[in-house]
Amino acid sequence: MSAAVVTSYVGIGSNLGDALGNVQRAILRLGQLPGTRLTAQSSLFRTTPIDAGGDDYINAVAQLETSLTAPQLLQELQSLENEFGRERPYQNAPRTLDLDILLYGEQKITSESLTVPHPRLTQRAFALIPLLQIDPMLTIPGEGPAHSFVPGVAGQAIRKI
Ligand code: AMP
Repeated sequence: MSAAVVTSYVGIGSNLGDALGNVQRAILRLGQLPGTRLTAQSSLFRTTPIDAGGDDYINAVAQLETSLTAPQLLQELQSLENEFGRERPYQNAPRTLDLDILLYGEQKITSESLTVPHPRLTQRAFALIPLLQIDPMLTIPGEGPAHSFVPGVAGQAIRKI
């Protein structure tokens, strides 16, 4: 029996080093993960850090079709972050690469290592706006239509590159 294929959305961010290049290379690497295909990608966006210092972020969202389970996908994302030289000196420190599982099919997951839908998805323009660019009709499981949260993030600076 083959593993079920799930559509997952991954948020990508970088504000350290060659942030633009990091995000572009990360998108390519996501499509090379085992059992995974890159099926869509948003534009790249420039955003102002929230609750943190440092340079502006470059953000994007990738749509994947994957036969990885959510914990397996998280593990692969963490390996990719490490591959890009991610360090965690303190909370919200500038980072070469940040990868978050925003959505994993229509599943709601709450475990020690994973909360899906990502708990800040509806409150962060840098995740919500690129996500809606890929699928304007998307529903966030347990929350409602993704577009209904746009007015709440209208004050956050985000510019398409
Ligand atoms: P960060 O340091 O911002 O990369 O946060 C990574 C931590 O968040 C890891 O310990 C993950 O287990 C946890 N986490 C919880 N939910 C998620 C999610 N949906 N996507 C990525 N990491 C998550």
